[in-house]
Amino acid sequence: MKFSELDLKPELQESLKRMGYEEMTPIQEQTIPHVIKGADVMGLAETGSGKTAACGVPLVNATDVDLNAIQHLILVPTRELALQYVQEVDDLAGDSGVVPFAVFGGFDISIQKAKLNHCVHILVATPGRLIDLIWNTRLDLTHVRTVVLDEADEMLKMGFIEDVDWILSCMLQEHQTLLWSATMPGEIDGLARKYLKDPIRIELNRDQRAPQSLQHHFLHAGRNRLTALTKYLKDDAVKQAIIFCNSRDKASELHRELRRQFTSMESIHGGLDQGKRTSIFRGFKELKIKYMVATDVAGRGLDFSHVTHVINYDLPFNSEIYTHRTGRAGRMGRTGVALTLVSDRDLGSLKEILRKNVIEPQWVGDAPDMDSVSKRRGGNRSRGRGDGRSGSSGQGSGRPRRRGSRNSGRSTPTTA
Ligand code: AMP
Repeated sequence: MKFSELDLKPELQESLKRMGYEEMTPIQEQTIPHVIKGADVMGLAETGSGKTAACGVPLVNATDVDLNAIQHLILVPTRELALQYVQEVDDLAGDSGVVPFAVFGGFDISIQKAKLNHCVHILVATPGRLIDLIWNTRLDLTHVRTVVLDEADEMLKMGFIEDVDWILSCMLQEHQTLLWSATMPGEIDGLARKYLKDPIRIELNRDQRAPQSLQHHFLHAGRNRLTALTKYLKDDAVKQAIIFCNSRDKASELHRELRRQFTSMESIHGGLDQGKRTSIFRGFKELKIKYMVATDVAGRGLDFSHVTHVINYDLPFNSEIYTHRTGRAGRMGRTGVALTLVSDRDLGSLKEILRKNVIEPQWVGDAPDMDSVSKRRGGNRSRGRGDGRSGSSGQGSGRPRRRGSRNSGRSTPTTA
């Protein structure tokens, strides 16, 4: 189905044309008509399926630009997702007069307050900063008609679920709720049962796999990983690459080594301050940075469809992480290469990743003897400290938070 078949604001149709969105993606086709009708939606969506616009299009369309109030609230787990989300909504809003804005921790709250006092129609927020704003500025959410929870399972993993529960409990007025999650653990299901009314269930990520549009290359590097990677990066085919490590320490170390040989080389992980992270992300998106070493803080949900190569310098801890990392590049059927460096001790885990993602590996150089590898071999890999997730809390400190510590003794404010 085409966007032109929908009855949308003319400015929104213009934006969609400008953005090159003609045909809806399956998730958009299944979601948008229900959202327009005002139904609650609970979606299990594939990474890179177009779920931002699945909400963004109906929300921009339903915004009353003459009403100077927050009308739609979108909760996301990280600052990076907040920035990406608000950028897409801003592109969709175009000349319609709809004003989106994002608030997240690690950024001057007084600047955010000033903007909120001026005019914001669609607010994208990380839970912690939103709660700070509700309490410290008596942020008015009484005109909110739609609440979106994006990457709900990620919010759960990061310990935000009680914050989200509290925010939802503040929405006393009639409103619509849209919940997106890659998986549906019990706590998210419970939240959905508590706050969603007869939700339409949309499931597109059954048997989610790494994008089949990418070429999945593997390099048996043995002990010489750094040399193998350096040689590979010098190949002309590598126009832009994101290079994943499993820990902050590893990422910092690799970044130090690679900078000796490559100029346009940056590193991003949860330990960096917000300003630095934002400017690196922007530079990378605008193709001003050629190589970016990253921990998984850059993996989940973000769109790096412009890169030609996703490189796993460290083998991901499990097949789900492989799917998310490679999913950053292979969005919407885009092509490219995912290269994974492996050593002998990785081969057992690799076998599992290949099986779960249904990947027939293409080996760069000599292939190891995979037939003689048992699943348990190399299966004792443990999560190292600081895999990047803990640092992407969406809050200012960058430290993991104690569950439930924010809300103790808090009651529902009357302003919201
Ligand atoms: P998302 O899953 O929302 O992060 O979107 C994944 C990518 O697909 C982003 O780069 C979007 O800009 C792009 N996209 C979303 N919807 C469409 C569409 N209908 N046509 C073309 N590209 C789209």
